[in-house]
Amino acid sequence: MKKISLTTLFLLFITFAFAQHGLVKSTGAMSEMGKTGFAPTISADTLQKYPRIFGLGPLGKMQGEITFADGVPYSGFADLDGNAFIQENWDIQAPFFVYAEVEAWEAFPLSGELEDLLALDSLIEDIAGNNGYDLSQPFFFKIEGTFDEMVTHIVTPRSPVVEGYKPGRNQENYEHVKEKGEIIAVYSQVGKRIYTHHDTFIHAHFINEAQTFTGHIDLLKTNLDGSTLYLPKRKKPLSFQTNDTDFSKGRLGFQQEVELDDLVKFHGHLCDGLVVGAMGLNEALQHLFPDGVIDRTDLRIVSQSSPCLTDVAVYLTGARYQFNTFYVDDAIDGIYIVQKISDGSTFQVNLNKGVKPAIIGEMSELAVNQELTGCQLDELKSTEDDFMEFLFQADAKEIFSVKAVSDFDWDPVLKNDLVKTDVLNKHAPSCTH
Ligand SMILES: [Zn+2]
Ligand SMILES: [Zn+2]
Repeated sequence: MKKISLTTLFLLFITFAFAQHGLVKSTGAMSEMGKTGFAPTISADTLQKYPRIFGLGPLGKMQGEITFADGVPYSGFADLDGNAFIQENWDIQAPFFVYAEVEAWEAFPLSGELEDLLALDSLIEDIAGNNGYDLSQPFFFKIEGTFDEMVTHIVTPRSPVVEGYKPGRNQENYEHVKEKGEIIAVYSQVGKRIYTHHDTFIHAHFINEAQTFTGHIDLLKTNLDGSTLYLPKRKKPLSFQTNDTDFSKGRLGFQQEVELDDLVKFHGHLCDGLVVGAMGLNEALQHLFPDGVIDRTDLRIVSQSSPCLTDVAVYLTGARYQFNTFYVDDAIDGIYIVQKISDGSTFQVNLNKGVKPAIIGEMSELAVNQELTGCQLDELKSTEDDFMEFLFQADAKEIFSVKAVSDFDWDPVLKNDLVKTDVLNKHAPSCTH
């Protein structure tokens, strides 16, 4: 079994500290879709769990263009006369699709001439690179502006059995002159022939301001003065914005940023349970505070009894035992049930079954019974660290389930006879062999 070394730990922190951008995911491939008869690789309704999703791809069996913008699933179509129209619909499929949830953007004013679409690659590289973005990681971006000259297309069906087919037609092209709107695009050095063409790192769609047209951009030549580029706001994962009162008798409005490091200091060590708690609670809190600012004066929470989970619970919510805003109950369905006191909205969050390797549970039980040798304790730590590394790379929405709870019954079970499991082996011998 792999032993964790100081270097590994160090790397773990590096990966963690600099992970950035909404995680870009893709299904299918541009270069493969013709061979499979444009068989669908994704149904868009599975993506509704991402409230601020952006995405690009062709629609169904090449019946149009899909552009997801800030959680709205637009499809652009061309009718038999070539007239373009748009629909909003989750009940769609795509032979290939690239998408990411972008929670917040950072704005960069643009200026000067953009000679052609390929020049957009270097423009994005300049601005993103100069602002510390990691260009080897794919990211979505958007540009708002009025575009002088642009040519777009909307693909049309290739087979007579698909509605909208017209012999000899693969796509309709559209010319735009001084048209106002938004470019939604993905930059990726690893997506060639998968979701970008072979000669560019960018796949770009256009939505006009009236939201009556969306299509794939083929040509672009414009003056960029007055346009704005938006890159995904860089936020450390597992950092939280909190809101508290500003002194002991003060008013609400004192905001701070809390990071995983702060949780580590409070809890005593970095462990997988702390990360599970912070990621999971973050998923539930997003529903309670869509603006991302956690009001720690307005929450109560029920937690499973693990020392890691309970520490995350009280730290991030401001809930406390003595004010009847926090209790522990291992019988709850989920790791936490958290409630916004002012409006009663309540969410339960669960780590999905099978996500945590069973071996951790089995070895932990032995550890709690003090039946592990020093070397086995080191092995357990290494396994937990691997799991933690997996968590840092994971998409929280894939591994946690959040559920709204109606008429939740706040039923404090005040127990003080639980065993604090993370100190049981504090005098265990070290591994010697
Ligand atoms: Zn496209
Ligand atoms: Zn812990």
